[in-house]
Amino acid sequence: MTDRPSSIVVRGARIVDSTSTDDAGRPADLRVEDGRISHCVEPGSPLPEADTNLDAAGCIVTSGLVDLHVHLREPGREESETIESGSRAAARGGFTAVVAMPNTEPPHDSRVVVEFVREQGRRAGLCEVVPSGCITIGRAGEHLVTFAELRDVGVRLFTDDGSGVQDPQLMRRALEYARDLDITLAQHCEVASLTRGAVMHEGACCSRLGLPGWPAVAEELMVHRDIELCRLTGAGMHFLHLSTARSVELVRAAKADGLKVTAEAAPHHFTLTDEALGGFDPVFKVNPPLRTPADIAALRAGLADGTIDAIATDHAPHAPRLKEQPLDEAPPGMLGLETALGLALTHLVDTGSMSLRAVLGALSWRPARIARLDDRQGRPVAVGEPANLVVVDPAATWTVRPDETASRSRNTPYVGHTLRGRVRHTIFEGRAVVVDGTATR
Ligand SMILES: [Zn+2]
Repeated sequence: MTDRPSSIVVRGARIVDSTSTDDAGRPADLRVEDGRISHCVEPGSPLPEADTNLDAAGCIVTSGLVDLHVHLREPGREESETIESGSRAAARGGFTAVVAMPNTEPPHDSRVVVEFVREQGRRAGLCEVVPSGCITIGRAGEHLVTFAELRDVGVRLFTDDGSGVQDPQLMRRALEYARDLDITLAQHCEVASLTRGAVMHEGACCSRLGLPGWPAVAEELMVHRDIELCRLTGAGMHFLHLSTARSVELVRAAKADGLKVTAEAAPHHFTLTDEALGGFDPVFKVNPPLRTPADIAALRAGLADGTIDAIATDHAPHAPRLKEQPLDEAPPGMLGLETALGLALTHLVDTGSMSLRAVLGALSWRPARIARLDDRQGRPVAVGEPANLVVVDPAATWTVRPDETASRSRNTPYVGHTLRGRVRHTIFEGRAVVVDGTATR
């Protein structure tokens, strides 16, 4: 869509952003015009008329959330999600930018596919859809893509997500390109020979259920290998969806050594354990798998001390026909975009693990920097800045219902969970794309 940005007035919110030094925030009324914040004034001060007036009483206004890890399924698996439906779910979840993972059909290994994904995102007009690029052609792990060609059409983050790059020599060469071309590689850490046929975390619960297990070490070996390859090449690296305590320790040590590594964790990995698989329900099957309470504690500690930079959803829609199969046949993955903020507030802030502004940092300005979007996303809420904003009602409690999602799929593991904190309005490029929790397009 190419409609012009409108003018918007937001009244009654407190600003909590990357410049905040406490969670109380600064009360202010805002006006948005031509895609930017035009006024930021004392509450109740007069402001020029606007096309849209948004009530934000009792709310927080912050920079739009940025998700480093979503599967939008288009092209190729539109039965489960489209770029438009996924963008709508993102906007409802407070996201103004999402990085689209490359495991579509065809995958993001050519400029044609990358440009298609970006253009579909523009057409939907609900959030910025940022295509990642594959590291290897067809994600087959054999030949590197032409990084420079994809970089020339704006790709900055490359990953074979869904699989890790198994061959260490190939990964070394990829890191050398990344260093020289100033792009970022993002690894899905999984040594495939250790996880064949696995459906859940290898541990006590898995043995009791008699299911094939996905050992923590399959992730940790690749985290360790890639940290050493970063040390060797001088390149940086982003670790996707870390799930184990030892992975967090490895990244913490790598950062202490001065390596340019960053990491993310997904809400399901810091809120659910492998015990959830006890009912053999495939909605809880995810890759990497749900782990143990000790892993959850380590992920929360890693988020709290900044070892883990970002909360990323790994939003992975699957149509009911696909997900409602026996556990060993059902594809891994769960929805994430619309529940991420509520889960983070409920399980990280309310438990005392993290401050509100630290959580917002992990959901907005820190991932914006990793994705190289920080000229327009995750910016301070101030006059002249691009109007990519979210208004959150921190006191609202709500119960997750799968029939209320904007996604084409229904595979959320949080059905019936009550969460604290809900998106009231989302403003993307100066347009109100979510008003009172409802997408406007
Ligand atoms: Zn992955």
